[in-house]
Amino acid sequence: MISTFPTKESLCQIISGARKILITTHLGPDGDAIGSSLGLALFIRKLNPETRVAVPNDYPDFLRWMPGNELIMNYMKQKAEVDAYLQETDLIFYLDYNEGSRGGQMEPVLSSSGACKVLIDHHLTPAMKTDYCLSDPNASSTAELVYSFIRELPLPKHLMDTDIATCLYAGILTDTGCFSFNSSRGETFRQVAALLDYGIDKDNIYSLIYDNFSAMRMLLLGHCLSNMQVFPEYKTAYMTLSLEDQKKFHYKIGDSEGFVNYPLSIEGISFSAFFIENEDKIKISFRSKGTFSVNQFARDYFNGGGHLNASGGDVYKSSLQSVTEKFVSLLPGVKDSII
Ligand code: 5GP
Ligand code: MN
Repeated sequence: MISTFPTKESLCQIISGARKILITTHLGPDGDAIGSSLGLALFIRKLNPETRVAVPNDYPDFLRWMPGNELIMNYMKQKAEVDAYLQETDLIFYLDYNEGSRGGQMEPVLSSSGACKVLIDHHLTPAMKTDYCLSDPNASSTAELVYSFIRELPLPKHLMDTDIATCLYAGILTDTGCFSFNSSRGETFRQVAALLDYGIDKDNIYSLIYDNFSAMRMLLLGHCLSNMQVFPEYKTAYMTLSLEDQKKFHYKIGDSEGFVNYPLSIEGISFSAFFIENEDKIKISFRSKGTFSVNQFARDYFNGGGHLNASGGDVYKSSLQSVTEKFVSLLPGVKDSII
């Protein structure tokens, strides 16, 4: 764990004294990005109400129910508002990312800001220089780290509440695939136990996230599964989603969230990829089981990164066909690492 907070006391002073505070998170915000950002925002607002969240682009509908959702500004739709807000911002948090580029179009305006910068993240090897850094790749999620961070601040315990615990639990739940990965250490469950004691409704949180899909989304999943390509000799399978099919199934952002995990349910498959066509690029998600590092794979070949077992990347100005062909051509070279 890398933790370079000089003192928790000085951080509390910075929080209380800041004119404005901005919490930011990564492109394509997921449950952990939104949950950790809102959990932290709701907490910090008790010390300094001038606290907002900015996301680089839109996030799925199934994440909009969280307490504090109205605090989020979307840089794609509210650029002027975020830029103006940043003029008076004295403290910026980077949550759930550690590479400037993951801030998308917010990156230049964030990096040129003279505000004090704090990073809280669980991805490998922080690439960004900030004033303070809490980075722990062993943590299940950034939400888990935000809870540790909050707990360690020298503040009265009553500042934690059910809404904050709800957001943080949602972050942990989604980043661990409902506790099926990234959650082998006892610490995660001790944090979850403490969050449950704040009276969160865990079953309802599950339902709000996972039982909230449109019928079209289910049909889209069926379509992607029926076109899945399986390579038993490489313990690999992949699925694709073209722009044409997105139109056909009235695709909305977030509809394909989690699709990449399905091939891993096949016996003998431990490497999975999902390719989605965008207007300007092919966005890829990778997942693995065991020791095969999809973080390294994404870094080496697809301009991306992430975690050992969950990563992503993208290829600009290319077609689904050429990117999947490249992917398949790489399999013989990594075959022995996929176990
Ligand atoms: P997902 O497949 O859910 O989009 O992303 C899985 C993980 O990979 C996330 O932790 C995310 O931060 C990381 N990731 C996804 N896309 C990219 C990318 O283009 N670049 C980097 N560096 N990380 C990515
Ligand atoms: Mn995360």
